Amino acid sequence: MTTRSLNEWDQEISQAARRIQTYVSPTPMLFSDPLSREVGSPVWLKCEQFQPMGAFKIRGAANALLQLPEERRRKGAVTYSTGNHGLAVAYMCRALGVPAVVCISERVPETKVEALQELGARLEIRGQGQDEAYETAQNISTGEGRLLIEPFDDVAVIAGQGTMGVEILREVPDVDTILIPLSGGGLASGVAATLKHRRPSCRLIGISMQGGAAMHESIRQGHPVMLPEVPTLADSLQGGIGLANRWTFDMVSRLLDDIVLVSEAEIQRAMGYLAVKQGMLVEGAAAVTVAYLLRSVDSALGTVVALLTGRNVSATQSLEAITAYQGRKSLG
Ligand SMILES: *Cc1c(COP(=O)(O)O)cnc(C)c1O
Repeated sequence: MTTRSLNEWDQEISQAARRIQTYVSPTPMLFSDPLSREVGSPVWLKCEQFQPMGAFKIRGAANALLQLPEERRRKGAVTYSTGNHGLAVAYMCRALGVPAVVCISERVPETKVEALQELGARLEIRGQGQDEAYETAQNISTGEGRLLIEPFDDVAVIAGQGTMGVEILREVPDVDTILIPLSGGGLASGVAATLKHRRPSCRLIGISMQGGAAMHESIRQGHPVMLPEVPTLADSLQGGIGLANRWTFDMVSRLLDDIVLVSEAEIQRAMGYLAVKQGMLVEGAAAVTVAYLLRSVDSALGTVVALLTGRNVSATQSLEAITAYQGRKSLG
């Protein structure tokens, strides 16, 4: 476990915001009338699904790669990922002329595999889960002298994701509750570091799917644990937190006010809701925040910002969610 003061994190995150601004534009913060009426208090949607490559992960990838010294860029970078982090690293590598290797498991959906190939990354597809992909990436990093870019448990990546917190405070300064999709906790740690420093009264709620929520279970047991991966609509939230976790386990434990789990049915309903009521196609990992809102209807939330983290979902899954949502409505 490693610690750093909130003040140090705040400086790290402010530097990251300056560093990445050429590559990462601020995303829209949209007021949601339907959700606000549903919940009984103002709800804003932070629309990170409109980032290049369709997810917020470009923030951390850009912050890590832009710190790589010129002479090391030629050797390249390597990463492992359930998809969106790999896409972000491949995209940023292409933009900076850094050769990229991405190690992924055989479970990663075909749409994501194709997108990685189009970006010109070398793919290493091994095994059934994040752990095998991680081992492959470590070997390639050592063997080829490539920078290993961690998906979440890394200072540069956490600080990069934390730049979203800076934008949130600029756009909705009176925010009372932020709903954050939670997997390895890079996003939650970064956003929480900014918010607990600059607006400590704001409540931060991490949200994961019911099956295979490794961070939630680790916090319950008081130390990092592994869980089997279970198929889920929120596939970008799958994966462990690392038994030798350095940063995010501690930060998420200390800085989040609560972690809640949502069911597959709730995630699917939220995907359908966002498509039908907001005209937004998002992936399951992003819809968990809205799944929670549609369940809880707790006006003590105050002014809410729900993070919509990504849009990399198959057309089939989107259509099924819309059809299920429409069907439920017509049944009354
Ligand atoms: C990676 C990811 C998350 C979770 O981020 P962590 O930093 O791993 O907690 C949430 N939503 C989407 C779409 C992602 O790609």
